[in-house]
Amino acid sequence: MNILENVELAPLTTFEIGGPAKYFIEVKNSDQLGAALDYAQTRKLPFFVLAGGSNVLIADTGFNGVVIKIAFKELKVDTLNSQVYAEAGSSLMDCIFESAGAGLSGMESMYGIPGSVGGAARGNAGAFGAEMVDVVKEITALNIETREIKTFANEDCFFSYRNSFFKKNTDWIIISVLLQLEKETGGSALKRAEEILALRNERQIQNIQSAGSFFMNPSVNQSIQDSFRKEKGTEARERRVPAGWLIEKSGFKGVCENNVCTGKRSPNYIINSGGASASSVRNLAESIRNKVLEKFAIELHEEVMQVGF
Ligand SMILES: Cc1cc2nc3c(=O)[nH]c(=O)nc-3n(C[C@H](O)[C@H](O)[C@H](O)COP(=O)(O)OP(=O)(O)OC[C@H]3O[C@@H](n4cnc5c(N)ncnc54)[C@H](O)[C@@H]3O)c2cc1C
Repeated sequence: MNILENVELAPLTTFEIGGPAKYFIEVKNSDQLGAALDYAQTRKLPFFVLAGGSNVLIADTGFNGVVIKIAFKELKVDTLNSQVYAEAGSSLMDCIFESAGAGLSGMESMYGIPGSVGGAARGNAGAFGAEMVDVVKEITALNIETREIKTFANEDCFFSYRNSFFKKNTDWIIISVLLQLEKETGGSALKRAEEILALRNERQIQNIQSAGSFFMNPSVNQSIQDSFRKEKGTEARERRVPAGWLIEKSGFKGVCENNVCTGKRSPNYIINSGGASASSVRNLAESIRNKVLEKFAIELHEEVMQVGF
């Protein structure tokens, strides 16, 4: 096992922000994952699991413990059963590209979401009407205390909006995901995936130094749902309205301070416009949160995982 010291984390995240990890171990299978956990636990060091780094904000001072980077990436497409076996560290985009390319449909609306399959399953990632809950058949995970390896059926993952059993129970680290897709009918899944990617580019939610939507879409009262419907002509989903809509109405669309901006098209994206610090991101996020609270009496909660603060 190769234990590195003082490894810069910023280049391993899409925000491109943050200081170094005191210790850094890349793991390529579940045995190595167990060994990395042994290393941290016997020394009583805090540890953090990093995969694609597309949903994290690392502190400017870095992480004073062990960062365990999930680097097992095997992907197997089984066209006969319309299933895909993906190790946790495999890229979600590769997974969608390969499955859609093999004529399997179900994930193409998620094409463009950066990061790993494991990270996506943990956060029930989703876009344009599809979420991981729709395609996960089983998740296999390792318990950090007992080292038990257990397979969870979809219903045991307790998926909900950007949430799952694994997000709430950090004792379990996802090792692999089995996806159940369908044979494409009426059009090419790959073509639809590419159309989605073009749409994401147009909405400026692709290839930017950010961690995606910074805040979760909050659940709101009927009167705010009604205002949203009147203004946008669409229903709030599951009583939630887009955080970006509230942020825009609070005057934070395309606002910049200290090299940190909110998106011009998607204001719930907090973007590093070059050389931003984590503390500047947190300051802007705090101003947004306070303003939305003051204006709408709604408390926004972060979707982005903050590490080392
Ligand atoms: C430009 C951009 C666009 C985005 N668009 C979307 C979008 O449309 N929809 C959407 O849902 N998200 C979106 N995101 C957010 C992000 O891509 C997803 O949340 C992604 O699924 C995170 O996966 P990751 O591998 O990068 O996780 P990381 O950022 O590495 O980790 C995130 C969290 O998951 C935990 N974790 C990671 N792997 C595992 C594992 N194997 N087991 C247990 N815990 C684990 C980490 O400890 C951490 O707490 C976007 C991000 C960016 C930068």
